[in-house]
Amino acid sequence: MALQAVYDRSPIFFQNIMTTVKGYKNAQTRYGKAYYAYRAFLKDFDTWPLEKKLEYQRAELVRFVRYANENSAFYRELYAGIDLDSIRSAEDLQKLPVVDKEMLRANIDSCIVRGTPYVESHTGGTTGKSLTVHFTVDDYMKRMASLDHFKAKVGFEHLKMRRATFNGKHIVPPGQTKKVFWRYNRACKQMIFSSFHITEENMGYYVEELNRFKPQALDGFFSSICDIAGYIERHNLKLDFTPVAIFPTSETLTQEGRALLERVFGCKVFDQYGSSEGAPFVMECPDQVLHVWLDSGVFEPFGEEGEVLVTSFTTHGTPLIRYRIGDRMTFDPNASCTCGDNQPIVRSIEGRRLDFLYTAKGAKINGGNVSNILKNLPNAVVRSQFLQSKKEEVTLLLEVDPALYKPEYNDQIQEEFRHKFGEDTKLTIRCVEEIPREKSGKFRMIKNTVDETADRQQS
Ligand SMILES: [Zn+2]
Repeated sequence: MALQAVYDRSPIFFQNIMTTVKGYKNAQTRYGKAYYAYRAFLKDFDTWPLEKKLEYQRAELVRFVRYANENSAFYRELYAGIDLDSIRSAEDLQKLPVVDKEMLRANIDSCIVRGTPYVESHTGGTTGKSLTVHFTVDDYMKRMASLDHFKAKVGFEHLKMRRATFNGKHIVPPGQTKKVFWRYNRACKQMIFSSFHITEENMGYYVEELNRFKPQALDGFFSSICDIAGYIERHNLKLDFTPVAIFPTSETLTQEGRALLERVFGCKVFDQYGSSEGAPFVMECPDQVLHVWLDSGVFEPFGEEGEVLVTSFTTHGTPLIRYRIGDRMTFDPNASCTCGDNQPIVRSIEGRRLDFLYTAKGAKINGGNVSNILKNLPNAVVRSQFLQSKKEEVTLLLEVDPALYKPEYNDQIQEEFRHKFGEDTKLTIRCVEEIPREKSGKFRMIKNTVDETADRQQS
């Protein structure tokens, strides 16, 4: 029996134990020697003059391009005939071809570098592709160190302080009737709250538990935390705690949402950027300005519409060089920041839209959670689109890679869907030749017309 099935049939106290055991197991690939070494490095790096940081970035870049060429069959083939000795700076990257998501998916096996211990990362992304990449354990620890360094700068010490996380983990089995939508991961002092059960009916229970647990930080899905904050404000509820900070992930922040969170929780919100494929980091400083973290990689502006290409130094498992990640950024090359950080400033990031689907009970399931429905189908989905016009029904259109897609994947998708949407929302899967694009030429992973349909029926 799969672990999830054992978990689903266990009583809640045992689910808490399983969550903690998983937490300790995860810690082995997150908080080891490389983690602590990199945290110390970043503390030092922060004090360097800009020139020294840029020189470090340049040296890392040269080293990383050579590494990919020597160790990844995909890059070796891609760079055949190119004089790699001429790549000496970020500007020289233009001599190398761009790698887009479909190239990476179609060539993932020859791209991955094997031979060192690794952590798998599954990603859906905005085109609804299923992609599995590897991180070396060292790189994974460095990424964790970067995230924790970012939080420590505004006063939150990971592993020492309590945090409440709103994520996409399946902690509440389908069919559970008890109003307990959280589980405790003692390994990280982390209360995990389900992002799949945030309905008007349930939110009071979430607030009660937050008041009992008194988290020192909140993190996870921006839209989920906003839903809870909106409920607290509407019902004029009192909070018995004030967190140090809120760290949303995975979604583009809105001005209104950020203001709502800061008003309701009485602390600042700090945004971060770094995808599950392993993009370099852009993080907000204590003064809430986004800075590129030069130690983590290179961002290059690309094309007319403000897109960026990323080259990431923590991707030795699945190298990303000039990778077209699909996000857009506006840089502010001449600005300086009051915080004292001399690294380049990013004015705005536009990535994932705040699209969502409904469950039959009315909870909103955000785009990140929706794309995760496909994440365990290794690289088999080229494109997908979720359609919904009624809360009780969702239709999934799939463009698959026939060489990789297996019939049993349909059952896996249904199972993932059931864990996120519950028993009473129905999913219909249709494999199609091609999913039509929008008139604008853009692709949308989620088309939810429930509210439009309801408006039409009312008027
Ligand atoms: Zn700053």
